[in-house]
Formats: sequence, structure tokens, C-alpha cells
Amino acid sequence: MKAAPDAQKRLLDLAELDSVADRLAHRRRTLPELAEIDEQSKRYAKLATEVIEAETEAGDLAREQAKAEGDVDTVRARAERDQKRLDSGAVTSPKDLASLQSEIASLHRRQGDLEEVVLEIMERREAADSKVADLRGKLDEVAAARGAAEDRRDAALVEIDKEAGETAGRRSAVAGDIPADLLGLYEKLREQYGVGAAMLRGGRCQGCKVALSIAEMNRIKAAPHDDVLRCDECRRILVRTAESGL
Ligand SMILES: [Zn+2]
Repeated sequence: MKAAPDAQKRLLDLAELDSVADRLAHRRRTLPELAEIDEQSKRYAKLATEVIEAETEAGDLAREQAKAEGDVDTVRARAERDQKRLDSGAVTSPKDLASLQSEIASLHRRQGDLEEVVLEIMERREAADSKVADLRGKLDEVAAARGAAEDRRDAALVEIDKEAGETAGRRSAVAGDIPADLLGLYEKLREQYGVGAAMLRGGRCQGCKVALSIAEMNRIKAAPHDDVLRCDECRRILVRTAESGL
């Protein structure tokens, strides 16, 4: 293939812009915020499950407490009713009176036991409620941290998009200076090797950094200026410049 030396040199500008585009794409994929958002999302999901578990436990205890309080009320009502019967003087037989008094005493004991059960449930419920509040607080913190990381990610992406847009604009201007067949070869090589063209600098290919042999340098010296050369090592287009050492 043949191309004017100036057109060949434009390939180096194109390769430089393509490497900028590659760096931007790499930066876009590896933004530290992406890993951070992922980490916070995992923490959020785990905490959300813990919140639901804690809320379920607190809800169960609230129902248990209501039931135990109902039991206390029932026993208290029975004791009050018996007390009224006793106070009314309607029960006169000593045997019945003794039996009534014994039942009242037994109900009072039962009420005391049930009130202790209520207190014990209340303590557990307080602990469960405070666990719910604690977990909800942590959940809010994680949500805020994730939101902040998302904002930073978005700001970085806006910056990258802006730079990528400018690079693409400059690239199409440069590509316009390069004949279609040479550009086609460059694109094909870029697809295969990541970089399509490299400068020959001081007898060394800047693509693979390999120094050319004397025989190879002699062959290049003898080649017409418009010959499109390739590096024997890396197959990239080898562009001659004043720095080539020829
Ligand atoms: Zn090379």
C-alpha cells in the first residue's frame, strides 16, 4: 500500500486520539464510585432484610403484650366482681365466705404473676423497638452514602462524556486527512491489536518497543517514502518521522 508521508504521520495523531478514547472508556468502566455503589447496595439490601426481621419481632411482641394485658384485665375484673359480692354482704355462710376470700387471694396472686409477664414482654419490646430504630438509622445512612456516590459517579460521567465528545470531534477531523484505504487498514489493525499505527523512533517501533535489526533498518531506508510499512514484530503500521533514526 502507498500513502503520502504526511497522511501516514496523521495516523500517529489518530492513534494518540484513539488512546485517549480508550483511556476514557477504561476510566468509565473502572470509576471507584461504581464499586462503592455496588458495595452500598449490598449493605442496603442486607440491612433492609434485617429491618423487616426486627419489625416483625417488634410487632409480635406488641401483640403478645396486648394479649397479656388482656389476661390481666380479665383476672382483675373477676377479683373485683368477687370483692363486690363479698362487700355486699349477700354471702353469709362461713364456708362460702372462706371460699370467696380464698378465690380473691388466688386471683390477686394470679394478677401479680400476669403483670410480671407483661413487664417482661415490655422490656423485650423496648429492646426490639430500639433495634428497629437503630437499623432504620443505619439504612438511612447507607442510602445517603449510596446517593452521594451516585452523584459523584454522575458528575464523573458528565466529565468523561464531555472529553469523549471532544476527542471524537478531533478524531473525525484527523480521519478526514487520511486516504480511505490507509484508514481502513489502520482500523482493521486497531481492532486486532488495540493500536493501529506506531512511530519508528530511534530505530525502535513505539508500538511493541522492539528495536529493528540493521537489515530491517536498511530495508526501510531503501523503501520509497510513500510505502506504507509494517512492523515485523507487532504488524502495526510503522510511521517514519524525522525522529526515526534513518
Ligand atoms: Zn512493533
